[in-house]
Amino acid sequence: MRFAERIGQINASQTVWFTALIQKLKQEGREIINFAVGEPEYPTPGSIVAATRDALEQGKTRYGPVAGLAALKSSLAGQFEGLDDSNILVSNGSKQCLYSIFQALCDPGDQVIIPRPYWVSFSEQVRLAGAEPVFVDTRAHQLDCEGIEKAITGRTRIILINNPNNPTGAVYPQADVERVAGIVRQHDLLLVSDEAYAFFVYDNATCKSPMEIDDLREHCVVVRSFSKSYSMTGFRVGYVAAPAPVIQALSKLQSHLTGNVCTFAQEGALAALDLGDSFVRTMQSDLQHKRDIAFQYADKLFTCIKPRGAFYLFPDVSAHLGESRTAEDLAAMLLEEVGVAVVPGEAFGMHNHIRISYALPEKDLIAGFERITEVL
Ligand code: GLU
Repeated sequence: MRFAERIGQINASQTVWFTALIQKLKQEGREIINFAVGEPEYPTPGSIVAATRDALEQGKTRYGPVAGLAALKSSLAGQFEGLDDSNILVSNGSKQCLYSIFQALCDPGDQVIIPRPYWVSFSEQVRLAGAEPVFVDTRAHQLDCEGIEKAITGRTRIILINNPNNPTGAVYPQADVERVAGIVRQHDLLLVSDEAYAFFVYDNATCKSPMEIDDLREHCVVVRSFSKSYSMTGFRVGYVAAPAPVIQALSKLQSHLTGNVCTFAQEGALAALDLGDSFVRTMQSDLQHKRDIAFQYADKLFTCIKPRGAFYLFPDVSAHLGESRTAEDLAAMLLEEVGVAVVPGEAFGMHNHIRISYALPEKDLIAGFERITEVL
């Protein structure tokens, strides 16, 4: 069978692959502690489930507007000063939002600057658009603004930031985000800001969207998600906030790609927006507590920077690798010998590291780290 060249040029998502592998191992009776998948353990809040069920019972099972339900778009636009419905597109998770952005905004040969390490799908989605990912290494997980500016060429189209960051959990200081925004403005580029973890910020850190920066609105495309924020990963609801012409281009693409996002899932998302601050605060304080437990262990075992966002640690595991062992080997050993799944740093473009998701029940978190401690 002959496949298109573009499909040969990309790797399957390792985070998704791990999820499937772990499910399979569990079905086979293995008792696995899952530090691999980025998914909060909390059940989907009852009001979201009820609104989805009501929508189904009320027959809201038909096609809807391609860019999203009007009520949902209006509520989402309200999160951004000066934006309205024409600036919002609802898509199947932030993953599809990002895919469509690169398809709609990049021509073959265009370059997208991506700080490294990076979430698995960024590089492959850029390649699928025929564009070239240009990686700029972070420094101690923080943006290298100078390096980003140096990486700009006549073919640069987009600078992509993901704040709070997957896989490192880093939260970027506002001054750095503003500096990148200045670079974007000066070189007439676009800043794509992946804010899937916007709710997950600890130690009273703040994480403002670049959409709030003066004069950047015409250069800024924000991607957010309901998945993690409201523990509704399977609903597949994410959204883009962007200048209206970008939304029109994305809608044109989406009209041929999937049409609207599942109508009753959008009704569930609408109910999520009514949950209010206390829901978010409870989740934040629980995850900050788990971050502290996880960091305490990881700091003893590895070289680990304490993250202030998302729900990942990304320690340097070199001390346990020796001459020939890679992080992939270490991850395979942990899974095989003690049934703990982690994602090797190679998936995120970085050797000698592993990603640990700590968004799981406290007893599993502790048991997982005890197993790792013992085997190492
Ligand atoms: N984004 C999550 C992760 O990094 C979920 C899996 C995926 O879509 O990549 O684990």
